[in-house]
Formats: sequence, C-alpha cells, structure tokens
Amino acid sequence: MALIVQKYGGTSVGSIERINAVADRVMASRKAGNDIVVVVSAMSGETDRLLGLASEISQAPAARELDVLLSTGEQVTIALLCIALNEMGCPAISYTGSQVRILTDDAHNKARILDIQDHNIRANLAEGKVVVVAGFQGVDEKGNITTLGRGGSDTTAVALAAAMKAHECHIYTDVDGVYTADPRIVSRARRLDSVTYEEMLEMASLGSKVLQIRSVEFAQKFHVQLRVLSSFEDGPGTLITEEDESMEQALISGIAQNKDEAKLTVVGVPDKPGIAHSILGPIADANIEVDMIVQNVGVDNTTDFTFTVHRNDYDKALGILNKTAKTLGAREVTGDKGIVKISVVGIGMRSHAGIASKMFNALAQEGINIMMISTSEIKISVVVDEKYLELGVRTLHSEFGLEQESA
Ligand code: ASP
Ligand code: MG
Repeated sequence: MALIVQKYGGTSVGSIERINAVADRVMASRKAGNDIVVVVSAMSGETDRLLGLASEISQAPAARELDVLLSTGEQVTIALLCIALNEMGCPAISYTGSQVRILTDDAHNKARILDIQDHNIRANLAEGKVVVVAGFQGVDEKGNITTLGRGGSDTTAVALAAAMKAHECHIYTDVDGVYTADPRIVSRARRLDSVTYEEMLEMASLGSKVLQIRSVEFAQKFHVQLRVLSSFEDGPGTLITEEDESMEQALISGIAQNKDEAKLTVVGVPDKPGIAHSILGPIADANIEVDMIVQNVGVDNTTDFTFTVHRNDYDKALGILNKTAKTLGAREVTGDKGIVKISVVGIGMRSHAGIASKMFNALAQEGINIMMISTSEIKISVVVDEKYLELGVRTLHSEFGLEQESA
C-alpha cells in the first residue's frame, strides 16, 4: 500500500460541484489501494476576498489577526470535502494546521514549517480513513495560528509528504503539467514528462506560477517525488524529481517569462570602490529585492549602474536612488517599467557550450534588442522591451526545438 499526498488548489475546490469531483478522485485513489492524505487550498478567490474585508477596515491589520482570518478559507474546504467523502461512503476526517500540529516559527503571514506531528494522521489512516488537512496554515509554539505565505498550500503538501515519507506528492491544479512555455503565448508548447528540481526552481523563480518556489525547495531538500496534474482531466502530468541518466536529455527544457520587473539606472557615478554598495545598500535596507545587476566599464572615471527590481517596488526604489545619486554626485537616474525578462532553462546547458550565442543570434534575427543579460549554470535570462515578449518567447521556443510534433 502506497501513501500518497494529494493537494488540490483553489480552482479545483472552487465550487460544490468541484469539491464533489475532487471527492470522486480521492475515492478512486483510495479504492486503488492507496493511503491518501489530502491537502486543500481555500475556494478560489476566497483568500483575496478575506484580505479585501480586512483592508476595508484597516490599511495595516495586525499580522496575527490576518492569519486568524485567512486560515478560515482552508477550514471551510477541509470540512466540505470530508462531508462530500462521507456522503459517498468514504470515511474521512479533517484537520486544521494547528490540530495536526504543523509547528511553524512565529513569522505571521510568512511562517516556516519547523515540525509536523503525524501520529493522529497515521492512526486515522490505519483505521481506513482519508485524512484531509488544511493547507497554508500552522501554529507557533505559543498556539498562535500562522500562515505560510500566498500559495503556501503547496508547501504544506510537500512538507507532509516529506514528514510521512509518502511515495509521491501529487499537486492537482488547473493545468495538466509543466509546459515548455506558457501555452497562452506558444500554442505548440509541450507538456514535459519530467523536469528536475533545479529546473523547476529556476522556472518558478523566473515567473512560472505552477508551484510555490518554497515547495520545490522543500521537495528537493527532502527528496519528495512531486507530480503536477490536472484535477479537470486525467493524464500523467509532469514529474519533478532528481536528475538521472534515463531522463530525456533535452538541451533546454523550457522558456520562462517575467513581466513583473522594472529597471533602474544610475548614470555617471564616479567609478571607485564601494559604489555598488553605496547604491544597493539603501535599496536592501528598504527591503527591496534586487534581481539582475549590470555595471558598465568606466569611461572618464564614471560608470553606469543598472539593476532590476519588482515593479511594485519601482517608485520606492526610484525615490531612494534619487537621494543616493545626489550624495554620490551621479549625473542622473533613469528608469524603465516597460521591460520583460525572458529566460531559457535547462540542465543540458551545463554540458553544452554555445547556448547563449544561439539565443542571442535568434533574438537578433528578429530585431530584438537585449538590454541586460544574466546567467546561471542552467539558465540564461535577457531583459528586452515588453513589446517583444511574445515574439521573443516564440522565437526561442522554436529555435531550441521545443515544439510539439504537429499532428
Ligand atoms: N489560499 C492561499 C492562497 O490563496 C494558499 C494557497 O492557495 O495555496 O494563497
Ligand atoms: Mg496555488
């Protein structure tokens, strides 16, 4: 008998009809002879609705109270799913995060899981029950309810799978797997049979929204076999796992895009030691995350310094930079919100030279100007004008031969 953790996201439990469909699916896996622990999100839109209610009252609600509020979304779905399962004759029992005792630190709204007590769950499984656990929530040492950050149900599922040494962790969502590119942009994008943790991590941090980044880190650390599947149709989904010899050795696994960044440049800063720190220090102090950084070679003892931040942080960063520029005696600060980052990702890159030049050449052929470049061992990212988003993604997708065979 295999233990499987199944996680269903908001759209998969978005209505009573959907909850009944999930119950059917859970029962089928149960009947196939597996022990099933289910983790659910709140019904789609519910967490946003709750946040909206709080913001009608206060611009800065206490983080502790927000967690008490937000955790109710998942409490509704665990109960409804168990009621549906029971109604079908399948014994099931629900638990909130604190009832399981998913112990977290006390960082409200972004808590980290420290420990999971699974003895009640194990006892229930032994009695033949399906166990349904609320995603996204836990409890701190003092008994305060905590939540794990948006999209945190993925992490609950992976953490449970790790703690209970589950055979696999299945993440059911509204897409049937991980694709070579966003199918809304590239109609011939292909579902990947498997992808490595490393690649998935890059894709998640580069803008793919299929899985919460932290859940992939967790899966990698604890060797949890993760599978992304659709709850709307049957299919094998995409397995996220360790790199191994037998995996299809594609050079590139996918093209990712991110429209959430903006770029800032300090023009004409004196070219001397400490400049990067004087510019980025105040940015970091303001808790603004910096992604790509480019510093040019100095000319006439000055240099230009460019970096990207999340678009939401743009105005704040610009304000800070204007002050810094004055103190440093820089010529000016310029900025651009109309950019996108396009990346090619693949572990095959490690053993093959020439991917970058192939990528730059393909973009050049289409007349797409590259503003910034950054690389890691398994990805190359470029920043281009946002008007080239679709053309850029499609061009690279076909350049690296990622298309589906046409029927
Ligand atoms: N309900 C939470 C959210 O909307 C957690 C989740 O869905 O994973 O972010
Ligand atoms: Mg989600």
